Amino acid sequence: MSDSINNTSYQLDDLVVERCVEIHEFEEGSPRASFNGLVEDAPRTNTSVVNGLSQQLIYQINLIVPNALVSFDDLDVKLGDAAYPFVPPTAKLGLQKAIERRGVTLVVNSAYRTLAQQMLLFNAKKRGENPNPVAAPGKSNHQSGLAVDIEDREGWLPFLQGTGWERLGGDPPHIDYRGQGARDLRQETILAFQQLWNKNHPNEKIYEDGDWGPKTESALNRSPATGFNIAPWDDKPRILRLSKPLMEGADVLKLQKKLQAAGFAISAADGVFGPGTDKAVKEFQKQKNLTADGLVGSRTLELMA
Ligand SMILES: [Zn+2]
Repeated sequence: MSDSINNTSYQLDDLVVERCVEIHEFEEGSPRASFNGLVEDAPRTNTSVVNGLSQQLIYQINLIVPNALVSFDDLDVKLGDAAYPFVPPTAKLGLQKAIERRGVTLVVNSAYRTLAQQMLLFNAKKRGENPNPVAAPGKSNHQSGLAVDIEDREGWLPFLQGTGWERLGGDPPHIDYRGQGARDLRQETILAFQQLWNKNHPNEKIYEDGDWGPKTESALNRSPATGFNIAPWDDKPRILRLSKPLMEGADVLKLQKKLQAAGFAISAADGVFGPGTDKAVKEFQKQKNLTADGLVGSRTLELMA
């Protein structure tokens, strides 16, 4: 039986309209802290503290729906600390068009918000630390993958015309994508977590139904902020690169240790792919006559082994 049945309190949360501006205010100003505990114990001042887990969740969604979410961090954008710049490919094309037309940097405060991030906001709300309306995890429009909060929305709207991006729900910074290829990923957002949890807890499985309920909530609260031991990219390594937010995980740590063993200076092998790691990768690639693009794919890894 689904763990969301007999759970009427969550239905009310479907109606919660989050005010994007207030959520940003709540998240602002805290430097990114490394935190190695469980989601329920994580400092709730800035949702980037669950970066490791968030990256695994986004990756898992793309295993459920191939190419559902692509990063637009390579466009001319300035991203907020806790913003995951992920939208469907067609929606990215729309943003790209608007940025080319206007010829200025697009400032993005928030885009895709992972289930783990929403959990932190929801916990803060439950514990009385956040006076603002917060949707239950999986219920926010920012879990759809079709919502972005930008600065100067009114200035951008004429340039967004015809791209599929519109002002729909939400307050001033908020735009939604309703163009070709739009697909609401809220169910997959929950399902991705349930699948990852089960892969890591074969003796304590929860239902993989894409519904939010008490068992899913309890499991998410007991998940490690830095991500699960068995990562979704373990079977087929992900391409590592300098990105925003910074890539984080055991695979990054392994890469850093290999670089160090090969004699490349990395100040701290911390499992976070920062500018220092990027520099070392490019130097390694140059030394091996590879294109020094900083992308760590199978070829670069092979030569490192
Ligand atoms: Zn919004």
